[in-house]
Amino acid sequence: MKENIETIIKDYVKNYHNIQKVETKWKEPLVSFAKAEDPLFYKLKEAVSPTHSMPKDFMEDAKTIIAYFLPFEEFIPMSNIEGRYSSRMWAIAYTETNKLILNLNSHIQTEINKLGYKSELIPATHNFDTNKLISDWSHRHVAYIAGLGKFGLNNMLITEKGCCGRIGTTITNLEIEPTERKEKEYCLYKYNGSCKKCVKRCVNDVLTDESFNRQKCYEMCLHNAEIYKDIGLNDVCGKCLVGVPCSFENPVGI
Ligand code: SF4
Ligand code: SF4
Repeated sequence: MKENIETIIKDYVKNYHNIQKVETKWKEPLVSFAKAEDPLFYKLKEAVSPTHSMPKDFMEDAKTIIAYFLPFEEFIPMSNIEGRYSSRMWAIAYTETNKLILNLNSHIQTEINKLGYKSELIPATHNFDTNKLISDWSHRHVAYIAGLGKFGLNNMLITEKGCCGRIGTTITNLEIEPTERKEKEYCLYKYNGSCKKCVKRCVNDVLTDESFNRQKCYEMCLHNAEIYKDIGLNDVCGKCLVGVPCSFENPVGI
């Protein structure tokens, strides 16, 4: 069953250009699974927000969370290296990948229904709090629980294909064996204290090795949203993800 779901996701992304006119290109997705009963979900109420949802808030008989990473083809992050503001291609990739996630989750739902089970569509930003700048379903944290990757100093989830891409999650009552979470860190700083390239790349003095100023980061994202308002809502930046050792791979290795 695990392989079936992986194939459904990978094939959909591979053929997406045949059903939608898009400029973004994605590499083959990574897919992982968490048990809906994983006790780590309760920790999200401390780590993210006391109002963070549990899988059973979306689906009473939830069994599995499916998490996937849609890695961007390298020309997209490369376009975002220079300058203080995001590249147009980076902003386009954000908008188009949001739409892909919506469409992909609907497709997963249809395919799971055909197998006689259900899946629940979760919005990209569930109950987003515009003051605290957090939502009640952190796809990144959920993907961490599902073993998709580990957090870097840049606050992104570093996967085996790096952190330049987007994460989607969906919930189902289909039981699938959970993916094992790795012990070893994926971020060089967390692994051996080296690197910190994301800190040097930050364009708004947001990141240090001890802190992350969420408000200042969002301020930068809103500048980009203003620049790219002609192509949709693009509160993005991503300068600390590109041109760094964890952009396209896990720099620590297996
Ligand atoms: S750039 Fe280096 S320190 Fe920053 S998240 Fe990536 S590996 Fe970690
Ligand atoms: S997204 Fe931009 S402002 Fe936020 S930490 Fe990264 S480089 Fe800094």
